[in-house]
Amino acid sequence: MADLQAPRGMSDVLPEDEPLWRFVRDTAERVARSFDYRLINTPIVEDVRVFSRTSGDESDIVSKEMYVFEDRGGGELALRPEGTAAVCRAYIEHGMGSRPQPVRLYYFGPMFRYDRPQAGRYRQLWQFGVECIGDPSPAADAEIIELQYTLFRELGLDDLTLSINSIGTAETRRTYVDVLRRHLEPHLEGLSQDSQRRFGTNVLRILDSKEDAGHPALQSAPSILDYLTDEDAQHFEAVRSLLDASGVPYEVAPRIVRGLDYYARTVWEFEPPAAEGSDSGQQGTVSAGGRYDGLMELLGGPPTPGTGTAMGVERTVLNLRARGIEAPSAAPVDVVTIPLGGQGPAAALRLAQSLRAAGLTVRAGIPGRSLRAQLRGADAAGARYAAILGDDEAARGVVQLKHLARDGEQREVAVGDAAGVVGSE
Ligand code: ATP
Ligand code: MG
Repeated sequence: MADLQAPRGMSDVLPEDEPLWRFVRDTAERVARSFDYRLINTPIVEDVRVFSRTSGDESDIVSKEMYVFEDRGGGELALRPEGTAAVCRAYIEHGMGSRPQPVRLYYFGPMFRYDRPQAGRYRQLWQFGVECIGDPSPAADAEIIELQYTLFRELGLDDLTLSINSIGTAETRRTYVDVLRRHLEPHLEGLSQDSQRRFGTNVLRILDSKEDAGHPALQSAPSILDYLTDEDAQHFEAVRSLLDASGVPYEVAPRIVRGLDYYARTVWEFEPPAAEGSDSGQQGTVSAGGRYDGLMELLGGPPTPGTGTAMGVERTVLNLRARGIEAPSAAPVDVVTIPLGGQGPAAALRLAQSLRAAGLTVRAGIPGRSLRAQLRGADAAGARYAAILGDDEAARGVVQLKHLARDGEQREVAVGDAAGVVGSE
């Protein structure tokens, strides 16, 4: 094995992975655009405070997953572990609050988390995410969920289940946390170390525990939905009826609390059906999101509501593979040029230019190789045509077009007519 390898938990996307990746990315961008979301690219590193102020000390991200380093100027930076806080930082920095609201944004890029690498869990992970900022209404939550739902349908992942919940606002949670603490206290010894620690720091997070998910104390926990304020309950009710209206199926799952502190009211997750959970284990969630009305203020901005979701690209690709879903095949090579002799190479370059300008895909042949070797290469590339240009063709302004897809039938055409001939079939 080579002594230099990609860092643990980080992987290369190879040309053979490209069709599925491109399928996911193109479909995501097309669906986002169809809902009028616009691309935003933020840096891969941020001031560490963008995340430490927003995610909360008890979050996995801040407590154990963030890559933090000092740059040469002494500033403390973090490789971004997630997209939302960075997008909100940009929203404030560029005064997007003065644009017509809401501002609808999407991103597609790598995130970094010092997670324990295993199938579906990596240290560099790619996310596609959408954010709808500046609209407090249930319609914004429903729109984001419908967008994500539509994307999964377009990808052919139509069996993912959507679970939604409301975690109310800070006020709701204060009441509920007391109730939950009283409920869990007698069972504390049977719970994991993590949960025992969280009992003192952030009780709500215990519901989110993967280790204790099956514990009776968690399964019999009171539902946060019974403690929503009237306003929170109305908001949740409205989200549900909008989802009903748009034909998006869901189930209500009071255990979903989400891992980050900045969420408020609506939260959700998309997961593969339970039967498949066995092979995806604890890496089931493909997309998750929620409303984050308190986030802007944590970053020093004016109070601004927001809602968004993030989809794991690798987990999406794993789900496509598990179902045998293939990407639509990439555009084939139309022409391979075969330059021969002294004048062929220059003539082949000019021909390739004009064919590409006509929208065709052209692979350049390699001067100096024999006709036989080049034809073999053209066949292996799956090209429709080989375009042979030697000294004689260069002098007469013609090209020998060999129709590889049709038994190698060959005809001579003027260079200026080649694009028309190749493009017409
Ligand atoms: P988990 O509970 O699996 O750790 P999370 O709550 O940390 O997930 P989010 O922060 O909600 O995940 O990220 C949104 C999506 O990004 C996830 O649903 C998942 O698809 C993907 N994701 C998160 N962490 C990883 C990772 N380490 N490797 C691969 N994909 C990931
Ligand atoms: Mg995590």
